[in-house]
Amino acid sequence: MTADRRDYEAIVLGLGGIGSATAYWLSKRFGSGVLGLERFELGHVRGESQDHSRIIRLSYHAPEYVRLAQRAYQTWHEVERDSGDRLIMKTGGLDLGPRDGAIDIATYAQSMRICGVPFEELDAAEIRRRWPQWNIGDDIHGLFQADSGIAMAAHANATHQRMARECGAELRDWTPVIAISESGGEFQIRTENDTYRTSRLCIAAGPWSNEALANFDLLLPLEVTKEQVTYFGAADLDAFAPERFPVWIWMDDPSFYGFPIFGENGPKVAQDAGGKPVDPNTRGFEPDESNSRRVHDFLAKYLPSALGPPILVKTCLYTLTPDRDFVVDRLPTQASCAVAIGAGHAFKFASVLGRILSELVTDGRTPSDLSLFSLDRPILKERDPARHYMV
Ligand SMILES: Cc1cc2nc3c(=O)[nH]c(=O)nc-3n(C[C@H](O)[C@H](O)[C@H](O)COP(=O)(O)OP(=O)(O)OC[C@H]3O[C@@H](n4cnc5c(N)ncnc54)[C@H](O)[C@@H]3O)c2cc1C
Repeated sequence: MTADRRDYEAIVLGLGGIGSATAYWLSKRFGSGVLGLERFELGHVRGESQDHSRIIRLSYHAPEYVRLAQRAYQTWHEVERDSGDRLIMKTGGLDLGPRDGAIDIATYAQSMRICGVPFEELDAAEIRRRWPQWNIGDDIHGLFQADSGIAMAAHANATHQRMARECGAELRDWTPVIAISESGGEFQIRTENDTYRTSRLCIAAGPWSNEALANFDLLLPLEVTKEQVTYFGAADLDAFAPERFPVWIWMDDPSFYGFPIFGENGPKVAQDAGGKPVDPNTRGFEPDESNSRRVHDFLAKYLPSALGPPILVKTCLYTLTPDRDFVVDRLPTQASCAVAIGAGHAFKFASVLGRILSELVTDGRTPSDLSLFSLDRPILKERDPARHYMV
């Protein structure tokens, strides 16, 4: 590595969860030919990827996601093996909600059946018997899938970064990309002090995706929202130990989700897509009172033993597509530039998405099915599309 190097085999814009993974997977192929550029410090909390934990699960509403999740587990397993770090903790996962809830649990069951994923269907009595922490009536039902658990988000990002550097990649913090141009198959990536050149570019800019895509005259109908998670000082901490209490998702509108104790001294709970739209450049970090109230009221009704005093509230951004499906594709006019946008549920896929971006810009193809995630799907061409965030 030299200080004045300008030409790289591949450049990654953004080193959050997906970009750090991309840098790692590219560096396995190109070693020191990889440059990653991050506008803030590595591990900053202004984006989407930096808490202790994210839910990982095979349980999804469409077979395409279940298959991608199967490859995600396999990919995390390879990173764990190669790094010696533990990044996934299985706790089991419970999807539960009213039988007539806004999210159709049957589609989850059907997708898992199609993909050969074992799971159990549970009625309310069985849920109460296994996890008496739940205070639910007989109108509630659920699915239990034993492989669900925790992706150790902040730790995994640091691992991807460390591994990328060990393969020779150069990762630069405090280096915002301010302009990108292309000529004759070569991208010129301009930062404040330098211009770098490459024939392969991966964009993983999270909430700043439209800013990056504007360099290619693309504007997607994305909505960036400020979300929040709360760790609660439950009175009986043992009842929320990872061995005794699984990750869970409440399948209704509003939808809530939660974790056993991991990283802080109490269970973590949040509303999914319960935040308000913000500008990532001017956002605040203060929690939203109405969001906190909804989480409080939900817990008081259904999971009262989790409801101790809040220990910590963290805010974090979602970058939402109108259909809540990811964007993972090559640019229509630039086949060697690929982009991934996570739509607020991509951390579990971070490593496999990084691998896929590296496959797209290197091989021009990937074994994964990206048909749901294309850039040219009609809803992404609408200026003001209807938004469906419940999945
Ligand atoms: C509260 C919360 C809970 C979540 N829960 C789950 C969950 O349980 N399970 C799950 O799978 N997913 C979950 N997600 C979603 C998941 O965390 C995100 O989908 C994923 O982390 C997105 O990663 P990213 O790399 O796209 O974005 P980010 O981590 O935001 O990374 C983008 C990076 O690009 C950098 N950047 C942008 N523009 C530039 C530029 N011009 N130059 C240089 N750098 C630039 C940014 O600074 C940033 O570091 C959750 C998200 C939140 C906020």
